[in-house]
Amino acid sequence: MERRRSVYMDYAATTPVRPEVLEAMAPYFSERFGNPSSLYALAREAKEAVEEARGRAAAAIGADPGEVFFTAGGTEADNWAIKGTALRGKGNHIVTSAIEHHAVIHPCRALDRQGYRVTYLPVDEFGRVDPADAEDAIADETILVSVMAANNEIGTIQPIRAIADIAHDHGVPFHTDAVQAIGAYPVDVDDMGADLLALSAHKFGGPKGAGALYIRRGTRIGTFMDGGAQERGRRAGTENVPGIVGLGRAIEVATADIEGHSRRLAAMRDRLIRGILDDIPDTRLNGHPVERLANNVSVAFRYVEGESILLLLDALGIAASTGSACTSASLEPSHVLTACGLPHEEAHGSLRLTLGSRNTEEDVDYVLSVLPGVIGRLRDISPLRGEA
Ligand code: PLP
Repeated sequence: MERRRSVYMDYAATTPVRPEVLEAMAPYFSERFGNPSSLYALAREAKEAVEEARGRAAAAIGADPGEVFFTAGGTEADNWAIKGTALRGKGNHIVTSAIEHHAVIHPCRALDRQGYRVTYLPVDEFGRVDPADAEDAIADETILVSVMAANNEIGTIQPIRAIADIAHDHGVPFHTDAVQAIGAYPVDVDDMGADLLALSAHKFGGPKGAGALYIRRGTRIGTFMDGGAQERGRRAGTENVPGIVGLGRAIEVATADIEGHSRRLAAMRDRLIRGILDDIPDTRLNGHPVERLANNVSVAFRYVEGESILLLLDALGIAASTGSACTSASLEPSHVLTACGLPHEEAHGSLRLTLGSRNTEEDVDYVLSVLPGVIGRLRDISPLRGEA
């Protein structure tokens, strides 16, 4: 076995802030601390920085700066898209998918409890929505179709444009949670057909607690955060100036060499997938074999618990994640994996490795060298194995 290394392979959870991003943010914590709403030079400096960041974010997604609204992250942007549409929509039905992030599923459930009807589109074994199912689900009362661009657990990329076109044919706006897509592949709101799009800075080398909602001009959406007149009266609250500056710089850097970056990650991803499937029996790949994020490896090992894998990997210096996002209160397996048809015991034995800018081929070698031993040890003591 190789010597112990420290390997971070959980970039879908969060990413380190890039040095150039930190450098851009730093002055806005200290000497340029002004409130953008105030009326003096110090404040104007902060306001200009916010507008510059808005321009950068807009340019990165093919939008007009006037269509970008800063939020406190991806969760707020998704909540705003869904609940804000409900506030202004002339119906009571929402179409989404069964494998959305909780930032979409839970606001939909909240509306469900208030009398809205929500259709959760099924996915195939690879986690893909069939656009024909969206067509069948849309009714006269439908106010929004919301399907994520790429899934955070299994990395599957959705046929977003086809779904958006169907929504538009019925006069229904289309929202996409693009939190995992930005920086992973080129995102353009027109190419995608998005009327609403959520993004989050900490997923692409920016700070936590900073995000944005793209709102296509003319889209009917109510105000979600009431208070002051910030963000042209549509999202109240003093701007997180350093966070917004960080978002702007990070999206610029993350989208500058997107092809080269994702090619490098995809090569490591494919070596990991091949190595794991070749060396460890009773293992399968979760998600789509081709239509998948360049940085995502998600595998299900039979007879083992994902949490146990994480503990042993952590002891070996590897930070990873499990597809079965158990909360302390419940041991429910991942809704994403079960929607893909995985039986509960396999959904519980899933591991997600997500790659990013600091990973190297040596990290891949290390993971491949220790993982078979980890799974072997757990299977040796697994009560599940005896039942097979
Ligand atoms: N949507 C997806 C697909 C995500 O992966 C995440 C973060 O895990 C979110 C939304 C929430 O974003 P944030 O952490 O900025 O609230």
